[in-house]
Amino acid sequence: MNVTPGIELRDREEDYLNINPLQTAGRATLEARKAVLSYVDGYSICDWCKGALCEMEKPPVKKFLDDVSVFLGMDASILTDGAREAKYAVLHAITSPGDAVVVDENKHYTTYVACERAGVRIYEVASSGHPEYKINPEDYAKVFEQVKAETGGLPKLAILTHVDGSYGNMVDAKAVGKICRDYKVPFLMNCAYSSGRMPVNGKELLADFISSSGHKSWASGGGNVGLLSISESWKEKVFKLSGKYKVKPLEILGCSSRGSSTLALMASFPHVKERIKNWDKEVENARHVVSELEKIGLVNLGTKPRQHDVNFFESEVLYKISQTHKDKNFFLYNELKKRGVVGIKAGLTKNFKMSTYGKTNEQIKHLVWSFTDIVEKFR
Ligand SMILES: *Cc1c(COP(=O)(O)O)cnc(C)c1O
Repeated sequence: MNVTPGIELRDREEDYLNINPLQTAGRATLEARKAVLSYVDGYSICDWCKGALCEMEKPPVKKFLDDVSVFLGMDASILTDGAREAKYAVLHAITSPGDAVVVDENKHYTTYVACERAGVRIYEVASSGHPEYKINPEDYAKVFEQVKAETGGLPKLAILTHVDGSYGNMVDAKAVGKICRDYKVPFLMNCAYSSGRMPVNGKELLADFISSSGHKSWASGGGNVGLLSISESWKEKVFKLSGKYKVKPLEILGCSSRGSSTLALMASFPHVKERIKNWDKEVENARHVVSELEKIGLVNLGTKPRQHDVNFFESEVLYKISQTHKDKNFFLYNELKKRGVVGIKAGLTKNFKMSTYGKTNEQIKHLVWSFTDIVEKFR
């Protein structure tokens, strides 16, 4: 069925159990859906604007951002178009082309691209590689020393992927934060896969900056939206206002996500504040699914014990089935879909990831049953 010629009606959230890591925690609440519909017209958020998106009182954007800062244990927040724009804003504000910036090997491509765009020199903290892909916090100190030896100075920024999107590994951010403090290197935590899903407190973790993704982890939709939260001491530099248009922050070109996605983020926030309290249950669900799928021959990569809803699997057993199944490598997608499960990329059998975020006990049970049934039937 089409909503309009050429555009298919999307029914993944209504009719299926969706385990696509990109999408599980970005699923919009009912409140967000209503807000998006009401503010779907262009610039409708600007009805009562007095000059700057992040200062708006009606709808209460400013109050929302103040609440977000408290929620994340930071001092000030602004809206961005996504986590990538938040990272780029910091890079642009506090580095110059040619400066050294340290990132972890499990970084998202957008961290790399933001660094490239800012023209900085990228130094990488290596992961332990297969099968754990662990980032050791102490290695940040080693790379800082390497930067010092090679350039004569310290890096201008250290970026840590708090939880990465490939393996769902969570790094001990506080340990990285401590090293950054000791070396006086500003510390940016990329929380695209953590804030909004689980409790994150920037002060406790010693972060100078936190980037968040609304459409990934804060139950938002209607477009894209993110957050940049910072500590007080960076306000002047990172939230610098235009010299001519004195209410417009430079790094977001005055106003960033000026549409329904901002309203969605605001409308879902009460739900987000509640749902992070269930984080232990989310981790428990993920561990349960991992252990059940390992019983049927799948191998889970990443650090142990598992600490996140995103999990990566190697699956020789499903790959073997694909060699003889009539649907070839599309068999897994097709067989899962028949059982009402979507979200693993069509065509993958050997390596894939999934997220169990927000699933009920019943759904978790069904997910495990689906994989078990497929393996038992075709092996
Ligand atoms: C998804 C993701 C991003 C990108 O988030 P946007 O809000 O779409 O820019 C950045 N970093 C990590 C680790 C991610 O997983």
